[in-house]
Amino acid sequence: MAWDFSTEPEFEEKLEWMREFVREEVFPLEVVDVGDENFLRIVRSLQEEVKRRGLWAAHLPPDLGGQGFGQVKLGLMHEIDGMSPWAPIVFGNQAPDSGNSEVLAHFGSAEQKERWLHPLLEGKVRSGFSMTEPMHAGSDPVQMSTTAVLEGDEWVINGHKWFTSNGMIADFLILMAVTDPDAAPYERASMFLVPVDTPGVKLLRNIPTMAGEHERFGYGHAEILYEDVRIPRDSIIGRRGQGFQIAQIRLGPGRIHHCMRWLGQARRAFDMLCERSLQREAFGGPLAQKQTVQNWIADSAAEMQAARLMTLHAAWMIDRQGAPAARKEISLIKFFGARVLHDVIDRAIQLHGSLGYSSDMPLEEMYRHARAARLYDGPDEVHRQSVARYILKDYQKPEGWLPREHVPTRREAAREKFAQLLENATANL
Ligand SMILES: Cc1cc2nc3c(=O)[nH]c(=O)nc-3n(C[C@H](O)[C@H](O)[C@H](O)COP(=O)(O)OP(=O)(O)OC[C@H]3O[C@@H](n4cnc5c(N)ncnc54)[C@H](O)[C@@H]3O)c2cc1C
Repeated sequence: MAWDFSTEPEFEEKLEWMREFVREEVFPLEVVDVGDENFLRIVRSLQEEVKRRGLWAAHLPPDLGGQGFGQVKLGLMHEIDGMSPWAPIVFGNQAPDSGNSEVLAHFGSAEQKERWLHPLLEGKVRSGFSMTEPMHAGSDPVQMSTTAVLEGDEWVINGHKWFTSNGMIADFLILMAVTDPDAAPYERASMFLVPVDTPGVKLLRNIPTMAGEHERFGYGHAEILYEDVRIPRDSIIGRRGQGFQIAQIRLGPGRIHHCMRWLGQARRAFDMLCERSLQREAFGGPLAQKQTVQNWIADSAAEMQAARLMTLHAAWMIDRQGAPAARKEISLIKFFGARVLHDVIDRAIQLHGSLGYSSDMPLEEMYRHARAARLYDGPDEVHRQSVARYILKDYQKPEGWLPREHVPTRREAAREKFAQLLENATANL
């Protein structure tokens, strides 16, 4: 029987190096005050170090320059690079490029890989994923109205998207559009590779969000119009009608990577919570001696531990049975992990008082980013709904009108069950 919570020593060494590297080299990036060009110079030198260590773009298979680690190991790595918003860029696995590279790795044609995937992995081009639309509920994407119509040897695309992360700085977009309006709901859409400089792609704006000033170098969430955009027939990714299937495969591991990064963020907030509780004194002693604060520390530790085990379990399921088989586990941790992240940061802010609310601590920025976690890649409510549906599939409606566990009914049945035995016992007295 295999039931093992340990990490192989050789892999633990890599994680140890990552922890040290992120703390010593990446944390300072968050506060260094040097203009964009110099900032990117530092980022590139750190990326070179990561490549030398063989930890670059680790989410990809070895033939594409990754390590083929699998989701459990990746989860442990993402926990570390989630501690800083800049670490995923330094490690070559920032969203949405990481998910897009997985789509192209698994479903791209040889030409698409050559022209777009390889430069993406080398960090020479950037990408966006364009699915959500302003006028339809993104949580129910079968409603999307962007269309792609085949005319001769070209697809003609018309539609309106928004929240395409990094759309403004992307070189190409992976777009979801309806190609087969009469097909079954989840077979209506296909995915396309659209170079951003194609005529008709109109980058309207980066939508201002709670994340605010942090969005440097054009990072942000773009609103985009696609007006009579013509792309060659072979720009489709995978098969016609396969869009939702690919999206599912893309989003499954992607969500786990987010969840693990959230643990790294939560852990950082937790460290601040604990340290400050020992440092700040009020009403005759350190805050750490107040029971409410002790409750925050204990609750946070328990919730983070639960989220960590749930995330690793979902990752383990993906490794063993593939992302579609792990849907329930992925949805469970998506909404639970987002709440844990939010609550731990919130407690840390509360404990720091006005300092926590100020930008003199990283907590307020972490809090603003954490809020989005309850929305992107499917809002909490949709994941809860999916979890409940999966769970309820294993249940059956009890017969009749009484619950199966109704005590008087069970008592009667128990009497009947043991009647003979009890009768014999009474007769032998
Ligand atoms: C920071 C950020 C980055 C993003 N990046 C991308 C990207 O790169 N590409 C992309 O295509 N999209 C992206 N999105 C969009 C994201 O995927 C959508 O916001 C998400 O799918 C929800 O869709 P919506 O915003 O249209 O909300 P809606 O679908 O309009 O839902 C609104 C609210 O309705 C409630 N709700 C919905 N369904 C149910 C239900 N079944 N039961 C109960 N309540 C329900 C929920 O509370 C939900 O928050 C991003 C969003 C954010 C915030």
